[in-house]
Amino acid sequence: MTTFLEGKTALVTGSTSGIGFEIARHLAQAGCGLMLNGVEKPSVVENAIADLRNTGVDDVSFSDTDLTDPVQVERLVADTLDRFGAIDILVNNAGIQHVAPIETFTDDNWDRIIEINLSAPFRLIRKILPMMRTNGWGRVINIASVHGLVASRHKSAYVAAKHGLVGLTKTVALETAAEPITCNALCPGYVRTALMESQIASKARAERISTEEAAELILLEKQPSLSFVSPADIGSMVTFLCSEAGDQITGAALTIDGGWSAQ
Ligand code: NAD
Repeated sequence: MTTFLEGKTALVTGSTSGIGFEIARHLAQAGCGLMLNGVEKPSVVENAIADLRNTGVDDVSFSDTDLTDPVQVERLVADTLDRFGAIDILVNNAGIQHVAPIETFTDDNWDRIIEINLSAPFRLIRKILPMMRTNGWGRVINIASVHGLVASRHKSAYVAAKHGLVGLTKTVALETAAEPITCNALCPGYVRTALMESQIASKARAERISTEEAAELILLEKQPSLSFVSPADIGSMVTFLCSEAGDQITGAALTIDGGWSAQ
């Protein structure tokens, strides 16, 4: 096992399941201490931690911070520092989706998406960046989406938040460009996680077809590779950005999208 991140600490938001869990696993296997976060039920969290421990990862802690609450966001940083003493890698991964035409998109759905997908990353970066500067090294990785680069119908809040996250990434990269700190956005296409399963299920219901047929149709519409991106692909990319090879990659919106945005 390569342990080039030994002695470093990563905070990965929304890491009790899906893409965030794989990012956390990859970073932990590279030697990082790890603060997990998420709002799942206790059994999901226990399974995630047990899974990590089974692969030899011990230096792991968990916070149930709800990222819609700025006070809890502050507490997440404080708890991570109490436990690990530093935050060297921040992965803003937590995100939610809601699909509806703009005429029926409610304020509540709009606000929740902007809070979790955009405002929480802003607040975490603002709080953690000074520490990275003091420690003389840092990596900020924002999990945006191909929807940070192009739009789809019925995803107004998600597309707006992810475009915003790409803009935030570029600004932070410029503000840290002359320092040993980088800030990048990853822009995945479709990844088959819980977030995606609900969209597949809605399509299956709407078209009266099976779940697998709906998944194929969704890929056919947008993702030329006709395969889902795997969470492990994204975990590997995050680990790469944390390696020395990533020193000069900053301000980038890196796609992992099976050709979606090439069209
Ligand atoms: P997921 O639903 O499997 O996981 C989301 C995670 O966010 C969970 O750990 C959940 O507990 C956490 N979370 C949700 N609300 C929260 C809150 N209020 N406070 C704290 N944590 C909260 O989703 P996923 O597919 O793994 O998505 C992870 C990221 O990847 C998201 O930002 C998403 O937009 C992005 N993304 C996903 C896809 C895809 O196809 N699945 C594609 C591109 C980008």
